[in-house]
Amino acid sequence: MTETKAVRPTVPKSIDVVIVGAGFGGMYMLHRLRGLGMSAIVFETASGVGGTWYWNRYPGARCDVESMQYSYSFSKDLEQEWTWSELFAGQPEILRYANFVADKFDLRRDICFETKVTEARFDPTARRWAVRTDRGDEVSARYCVMATGCLSTARVPDFPGLSDFKGKTYHTGYWPHEPVDFTGLRVGVIGTGSSAIQAIPVIAEQAANVTVFQRTPNFSIPSRNGPMTPQYERSWKDVYPARRAEARMSRNGVLANPNDKPAIETPEPERTAIYEQRWASGGTTFMASFNDLIFSKASNDTAAHFVRSKIKSIVKDPVKAELLAPTNHPIGTKRICVDTNYYQTYNRPNVDLVDVRSQPIECLTSKGLRVGGREYEFDAIVFATGFDAMTGALTRINLIGREGQTLAEKWEAGPRTYLGLMTAGFPNLFMITGPGSPSVLSNMMVSIEQHVDWITDCLAHLTGHQLDCIEPTSASEDAWVEHVNEVAHGTLYPSAASWYMGANIPGKPRVFMPYIGGVGAYRAKCAEIAADGYRGFRLLGPSRAVAAE
Ligand code: NAP
Repeated sequence: MTETKAVRPTVPKSIDVVIVGAGFGGMYMLHRLRGLGMSAIVFETASGVGGTWYWNRYPGARCDVESMQYSYSFSKDLEQEWTWSELFAGQPEILRYANFVADKFDLRRDICFETKVTEARFDPTARRWAVRTDRGDEVSARYCVMATGCLSTARVPDFPGLSDFKGKTYHTGYWPHEPVDFTGLRVGVIGTGSSAIQAIPVIAEQAANVTVFQRTPNFSIPSRNGPMTPQYERSWKDVYPARRAEARMSRNGVLANPNDKPAIETPEPERTAIYEQRWASGGTTFMASFNDLIFSKASNDTAAHFVRSKIKSIVKDPVKAELLAPTNHPIGTKRICVDTNYYQTYNRPNVDLVDVRSQPIECLTSKGLRVGGREYEFDAIVFATGFDAMTGALTRINLIGREGQTLAEKWEAGPRTYLGLMTAGFPNLFMITGPGSPSVLSNMMVSIEQHVDWITDCLAHLTGHQLDCIEPTSASEDAWVEHVNEVAHGTLYPSAASWYMGANIPGKPRVFMPYIGGVGAYRAKCAEIAADGYRGFRLLGPSRAVAAE
C-alpha cells in the first residue's frame, strides 16, 4: 500500500467517460464503470488519491463519522479485510485506506495525477464532451462525471495586506505534506469551524502560544474517540450487511439510534438526562437526542442551552466561556462540530481568544494582524477559514453546456439541479453529491455510493436501450429546486448564516444547497424515478440531435 504516483496513463483521444477527481467518489465511479465494460479515465489535481483526505492534513484532522460507518460498503472483502485503529480515524489513516483501495482495485492505471481539468465543452451535434486539462490533454468523452467534492475549494478571505505578512501562512484545507513544527512559535488561528476546532488543541500543545480569532462560536460535542477494540470491530463486521442497509435508509446515512420523541414534550428531568447520555457517548448523533431539534426553535433552545452550560462548566475563564457559547444560531443549523479537548484547551495559559465579530480583522501586517487598532504579532498564521462549498469546485471549471452557457453563468443566482445529479442544459454531465442532494448533510460515503450506483445503473440503462444522451428537463429541475427549498424552509437551517447557504462567501447567492429531506427518502425517490423510465429526464438515441426544449 503506497501513497505513490503511478505511471501516467496515455490519454486516449476518445473515451466513454471522463471522471474529474480521485477522491472516494471518483475512485468508486472508476471501479463501477470498469464493471460495466466502459472505458474511463480520471483526472486529479493532486499527486495521489483521497480527495479531501489528501488535502486536509492539518494537525488533528479526523473524521466525525465513525470509521466503521465512514468506509466503503461495496466490497465485502474490503470491509472485512480493512482494520481501523481508532473509533474515529485520523486523516493519515483514512488516506492510507484510500491508497489501500486504489491498490486493491488497481485504480491508478486509469488516473492522471497532477492534472487539472480546465474546460469541458458539450458538442450538441456529436453529443460528446470535449475535455481539456492544464497538461494539454484533449479528450472527447460521451459522459463526464464530476467527482469534485463539496469542500475542495479552500478559501482565504480577502484581508487587506494579506501578502504583507512575513511569517508562514497555512490553510487547513491546503496543508503542506511535510510536517509543520510549531514548537516555540507564536501562532494565530483565524476561524472556529470544524477544522479549527480539531486543529487548535493539537497546535496549542506544541506552540509557545496560540491566539484564536473567532467570528462565530460553534457548538461542539466531544467525540469520545478511542482505540478500536477487536470486540467492537467484530460487533460491526459480523452484521455489516444489515447495518449498512439500515444506514442507507436512515436520515443522515449514519446509525444514530434516533429518539423518536419531541424535546418539547419531554418533561424535565428526563430531557436533560437524555442530553447527558448523548453528551457522554459523544459525536454528531447528539442531534438525534430528539426528533424535533431541527424543526422547533423551542426544542432546539433546550439542546442549545444544554451545550452552552457544558461549555461554561468546562471553560474556567468566564469571559472566554461567554464568548465561546454560541447564541446567534440554533444548534445544528451550522454544521455541528466534534472535538477532542477543544473547550478544555482554552484553560491553557498559552491560549487566547479574540472576538472578531464586534471588531473584524482590519488587515494583516508584516508582523501579524490588526484588530480594533491593536496589532497581534505571530510567527505563523493558520487560516481555518473554510471553503467555497458545494459549487466552488464545479463553477471554477469552464463547463460549457449545449447552448454555450457556462455552469457558472447558469448558477449565478444559485445552483439548480435535478436530484443534485444533473443540471438542465448540460447533457451527459453527472455530479456526485451535487447541490440538491443530501451530500454534506449525510455520511458522505453512503451518499457517494448511492450516487455512483445510480449513475452506473443509468449508464447501463442507456447502453441497454441504444440511447446515448440524458438530460433533465427544465420543468423537472424547477420542481426539484422548489422542493429542496420548501423542505429546507420547513426547518431551522436557513436561519443560520452558514456555508450551507453560501453565506461565508461575500456575494455568493443565499440558497440552501444540500437536500434536507433525508438520505433514505432521497434514495427511494431516485430509485423510483429510475424505475419509472428516468422520469423528468430526456433520453435520446443516436438518431436525434440534442435540441433546446
Ligand atoms: P468553516 O466551517 O466554514 O469555518 C470557517 C471559519 O472561518 C468560521 O469560523 C468562519 O466564521 C471563519 N471565517 C471565515 N472568514 C472569516 C473572516 N473574514 N474573519 C474571521 N473569521 C472568518 O470551515 P471548516 O472549519 O474548514 O469546515 C468546513 C466543513 O468541512 C465542516 O463544516 C465540515 O462539514 C467539514 N469538516 C469536517 C470535519 C470532520 O469530519 N471532522 C473536519 C473539518 C471539516 P463564520 O462562521 O463567522 O463565517
